[in-house]
Amino acid sequence: MEDKRNFETDAIRAQTERTTFREHSVPLYLTSSFVFEDAEQARALFADEVPGNIYTRFSNPNNTELINKLCLLEGTEDGIATASGMAAMYCSMAALLKAGDHVLASRSVFGSTHQILNTLFPRFNISHTYVDLNAPSTWESKILPNTKMIFVETPSNPALDIIDLEWLGKLANKHKLILNVDNCFATPYLQNPAKWGAHLVTHSATKFIDGQGRVIGGAILGRKDLIKEIRFFARHTGPSMSPFNAWVLSKSLETLAVRMDRHCENANSVAKHLQSHSQLEYVKYPFLPSHPQFELAKKQMRLGGGVVTFEVKGGIERGRRFLNALKMLSHSANLGDTRTIATHPASTTHSKLSEAERLAVGITPGLIRVSVGLENLNDIIADIDQALLASQ
Ligand SMILES: *Cc1c(COP(=O)(O)O)cnc(C)c1O
Repeated sequence: MEDKRNFETDAIRAQTERTTFREHSVPLYLTSSFVFEDAEQARALFADEVPGNIYTRFSNPNNTELINKLCLLEGTEDGIATASGMAAMYCSMAALLKAGDHVLASRSVFGSTHQILNTLFPRFNISHTYVDLNAPSTWESKILPNTKMIFVETPSNPALDIIDLEWLGKLANKHKLILNVDNCFATPYLQNPAKWGAHLVTHSATKFIDGQGRVIGGAILGRKDLIKEIRFFARHTGPSMSPFNAWVLSKSLETLAVRMDRHCENANSVAKHLQSHSQLEYVKYPFLPSHPQFELAKKQMRLGGGVVTFEVKGGIERGRRFLNALKMLSHSANLGDTRTIATHPASTTHSKLSEAERLAVGITPGLIRVSVGLENLNDIIADIDQALLASQ
């Protein structure tokens, strides 16, 4: 019975056992430690012979509940919850790599993931090679004898490029590499990388999983043996998620499907509305037939996601004017919120890169990223339209 339930049902009904209070909604366990029954149980817990909680840095009922649910939704064996998305990205790599290892990573990864690969890992003699999401035929030749992991984001931020996960899963297995997919943009509702062969699925839960801009959190989900090593690393280095955030995120998952349905419906409508706009060079959205990987998006994603990008005519300065002209949309660095958020990567998140570096990851000068929220569609479109007019 349990196995055959559908996504929405698991997201709502997968819950830890009720306490004697018979609460309907999962309780919050704000406790730093747990009391042992006796000396023998304490010994057995520390020896990993029996399941149970010792200390919230290691595990907590709220974190366990969240992870059990996420594993059901992603179709993975095991996982851990982390304090942030970056703690998930970092631990999923650092726990499994050692000096001398090499990572093959898609060039368009999240900014802080770049910093880990470019600045932090070289200190520990862990190297990487970037590959282009739009040129998968070049990837295999860049695998080195010391390559251990492939790390990708799909769809990518902010260019919304897509890589074929089925192909990638086969490539990783052929070369016995760990495939680690940052599934933040899609969420488990739209895409399950493990189904296509990913060994690790990493998330920033801060984005659509919470979906209401309240908490920072992350998760690493995947193969049992890999999670065991990551759990050891996390237990002793301490990036655990607070039980409060785990409780919030477990509640968030109950509405993930309905929220994502509406995010995607609104984003698709915004993309369609803008695609013939005279003030735009182009509009990009995975489920628009004009997206270069439209067929692939349809194959591996349930819907197109909540993020739309477009290029305003007039470059960097026009991009800034557009943001200043917005009346309702928020100008914020976050995404995946109920509120529609617009950002201009060339003058903010990616302003430290050279123009050539930006173009290499698809960030054109007037590129605007819109994380389409859950407000009324007409109000979202009206604000974008008036800002395009006012910023001419
Ligand atoms: C936001 C984000 C992260 C980092 O997550 P935090 O929760 O902010 O630490 C990683 N990857 C992607 C794709 C993101 O959008």
